[in-house]
Amino acid sequence: MSKVIGVLDLQGDVVEHIDHFNRLGVKTRRVKKPEHLQGLRGLVMPGGESTCLRRLLKLFGLDESIRQAVRETGTKVWGTCAGAIILAAEVDGVREGMGVMDIAVQRNAFGSQLASFQTEARIPAVSDKLLPLTFIRAPKIIRAEEGVRVLLELDGYIAMAENEPALVTVFHPEMTPSLAFHRYFAEKCACLPEPMSEKTQHTGDKDTDESWNPTSWTRLAMVDAMKRNL
Ligand code: GLN
Repeated sequence: MSKVIGVLDLQGDVVEHIDHFNRLGVKTRRVKKPEHLQGLRGLVMPGGESTCLRRLLKLFGLDESIRQAVRETGTKVWGTCAGAIILAAEVDGVREGMGVMDIAVQRNAFGSQLASFQTEARIPAVSDKLLPLTFIRAPKIIRAEEGVRVLLELDGYIAMAENEPALVTVFHPEMTPSLAFHRYFAEKCACLPEPMSEKTQHTGDKDTDESWNPTSWTRLAMVDAMKRNL
């Protein structure tokens, strides 16, 4: 397996994740078709809209191939927000998820898009620094069964958890200057460049990229559009 992390490229925060991995010097590949999963050590299922994502996964024949890659090839998966909903075993009381992690989630648990918010928390498994967290019409993880390790619990709900094949965050680390979560997942996939390149060494807190801003990713989207002659 090559040291590459795939980013599911159907809908949602695709370039934002690629941009974060680029900053760490981690190689990525966009995944639109089952054959793009070949040899991947990890796969990010980005946030977006889970009903839409679920339909597209089926339409492109990716749902079963992803399950297979996790089960048979040992590909690790990280679901952020809508991606976490897709990986869960139970969604709003119905056993309809992919079931990669035995958790129950409640969608849109904070209310409408207007109830989106930012906060910060300390997550010892990830970093000894306070980490910024961005919640966008987020779900809550309301139950975690045996075999699931809870990494962050906030007011009566779970916000981050993992098991052997998967990581889930109900918030959006790709929407903050922190690279800590991407580093954590890249480490889980054994995909961090060794030794860490100069490019990834930041002054001060090594996981905060001061050059990041909320529109940094548009740079990548523009390169993409140019390639496709848009
Ligand atoms: N509310 C969305 C859903 O249920 C998830 C939102 C997100 O990914 N930011 O699919």
